[in-house]
Amino acid sequence: MSDRNLCDETSLSQDLTSLDAVFSPRSVAVVGASRRRNSIGFSLIHNLLINEFAGTVFPINPHGGAIHSLKAYPSLTAVPDPVDLAVIAVPSSVIEGVVEEAIAKGVRGLVVITAGFAEVGDEGARLEERICQRVRDAGLRMIGPNCMGVINADRSVRLNATFAPTPATAGSVGFVSQSGALGVAILNVAEELGIGFTQFVSIGNKADVSGNDLLEYWENDEATRVIAMYLESFGNPRHFTEIAKRVGRKKPILIVKSGRTTEGARAASSHTGALAGADVTVSAFLEQCGVVRANSIADLFDIARALDRCPLPRGRRVAILTNAGGPAIMATDACVNLGLEIATLSEATRAELASFLPPEASFGNPIDMIASADAAGYGRALTVLLADAQVDMVMVINVKPLVGDPRDVMEAVNESVRAANAGAGAGKPVLAVIMATEEFYAEVQRRTDQPPVYRFPEPAARALAMLSRYATWRRRPADESPIEFEVPDDEVRDILAAPASGYLDPCAAFRVLELYGVPVVPCRMVTEPEAALAAATELGYPVVLKAHAPDLVHKSDSGGVVVGIGNEAELRQEIAAMRQRLTAAGHPPSGYLVQEQIRAAGHEVIFGISTDPRFGPLLMFGLGGKYVEVLRDVRFAVTPLTAAEAKDVIRRIRGVALLDGVRGEPPADVELLVEVLLRLAQLAQRHPRIRELDINPFLAAPRGGRAVALDVRIRVEPSADDSA
Ligand code: ADP
Ligand code: MG
Repeated sequence: MSDRNLCDETSLSQDLTSLDAVFSPRSVAVVGASRRRNSIGFSLIHNLLINEFAGTVFPINPHGGAIHSLKAYPSLTAVPDPVDLAVIAVPSSVIEGVVEEAIAKGVRGLVVITAGFAEVGDEGARLEERICQRVRDAGLRMIGPNCMGVINADRSVRLNATFAPTPATAGSVGFVSQSGALGVAILNVAEELGIGFTQFVSIGNKADVSGNDLLEYWENDEATRVIAMYLESFGNPRHFTEIAKRVGRKKPILIVKSGRTTEGARAASSHTGALAGADVTVSAFLEQCGVVRANSIADLFDIARALDRCPLPRGRRVAILTNAGGPAIMATDACVNLGLEIATLSEATRAELASFLPPEASFGNPIDMIASADAAGYGRALTVLLADAQVDMVMVINVKPLVGDPRDVMEAVNESVRAANAGAGAGKPVLAVIMATEEFYAEVQRRTDQPPVYRFPEPAARALAMLSRYATWRRRPADESPIEFEVPDDEVRDILAAPASGYLDPCAAFRVLELYGVPVVPCRMVTEPEAALAAATELGYPVVLKAHAPDLVHKSDSGGVVVGIGNEAELRQEIAAMRQRLTAAGHPPSGYLVQEQIRAAGHEVIFGISTDPRFGPLLMFGLGGKYVEVLRDVRFAVTPLTAAEAKDVIRRIRGVALLDGVRGEPPADVELLVEVLLRLAQLAQRHPRIRELDINPFLAAPRGGRAVALDVRIRVEPSADDSA
């Protein structure tokens, strides 16, 4: 599908309420209506009628006659009454005439189903641009072209202006799809899962109305509680960020973003470049915007159901209530893997549970009520758990008992949730995992007045994790702006401009960090052995010797790093040996770096910058040293970066426990790491010449220790700003 947003600038000035002409028209004309069954022109009329559109429908067909028992008019002009919305399904060769006619007729909204525009090539793109410009000049709004249509399921409108075979039920999800074909699949899945929509929009080539416009439309629409999007591209990431961050404060935005292919070729000689695929950029970007990313359509709806029906959790602690051990173990694993915590129940809760559950039950967490548990037991136990201040959310698991009916269990769960949520506070999310028969699901999935029901623990755990992640994002201060550090940017710019392109020499790279307030290890760059000896004396033994050769990327791979050199004699010897080794390996050294040897305690971490052609600078943090590519324990962020976001990046690496200190080790100074990341974010943003930067390792020392960059590489390239 086309990624062009042809009239991007002017879209900002369009009046959003004018989308009402598209969603709530009083009358709809279908231009290109057909008597031929199974044709698009027939299906459009059929869907408007069988969904009982509240307004008037006018089929337009050059031969007139009757279509679906409605009188057909030969043209828009021939319609005697006003027309608010025109749905257009004529060949692209005659589209311009139809658009002119619609404008002359006073139509206010267009849905262009017709394909053959920007998605087929330059000529189509020019045609698309012409009609888009014409529509905007005349003050209309247009969905498409090359789309499946729009639905407004609101019961007072009941507009189904699509050719999709599945109708949409009324509900609270606003959905926008960039793919028409997928739109049909989405409607099918939604139907099965009992998901209802406010509006459903297939935006096609999004020449006029974009995903951003719809976000803004739904922002203040009371009926829309969750916004879901299937996207293949972001028209303008910066504009999206601004809107999503604002709208996300009011209601959750869920996205399935396809296109896990690379958006631009990336030179991957750096660690950061090698670890950053195009997809991590998108993930990091969405996460920072507070957008929840789903992996599939099914995943999207699993999360949407929870977001729609549950209050947001205040923390990450889950209680699992079950009548069977196996699924509870699976649930526990899934929750922990997704970053949730298994709640530690209070003493009072345990005592109360013990007062009515059989002695064989287990009162830890998961709370296993064993197979004899009945509906009343579920209700009572759930009420106790929801009252525990150490529990933020509950997953109820029920494997169909030998006797009894899971419907009764659901009823008891409902009762308990209703009672708990009626009390003070916002309530707590409860999800149900019911392993039962098809009849049960068929009946239960249509009910939206009860906790969402899942067939297995994993999707329920994911939904809880996403609720918690979104809730955490929402708790962040809204107006936090990136901190600005005072730094000598002019001096940095001069250093970065010295090479036309390629790597800075090591001293220059260290100097850039130093100027930006990132602590670095004291070092000297020399070319002659005698100078190395002088440098070592100045720095003090022991020292580290590193070879410098223009094409030497990972120095220690070729024996280009020697640590623990204790005196002059050893240094002399090591220089000679290193020269020999590296020359044999095809990297004759052009110089040497002598560094103070840091013997402080700490963990080796990595900081990195790479650039994404669409999103701009990308920052990375993770566990570093020579195993970074093996561990792959890194997280990414896009700029601008706030302090809360930087902290999140650091806290969310898998091995964060190492930084917190294990086996009696003192914790690393995480605040300093956050600051380094923020300083690098500013460096990346202000100096677009930097294409890649790796600090590997940075020694993450305890507070007050010697936290310093031990190795850094910076690759520069001329940027667009250079000419200015
Ligand atoms: P490269 O990444 O090119 O192989 P580094 O400069 O990162 O080379 O050094 C490799 C390893 O040597 C580092 O991961 C670190 O463990 C150790 N090291 C490097 N410089 C120092 C130093 N100044 N003090 C202590 N250890 C060092
Ligand atoms: Mg290194």
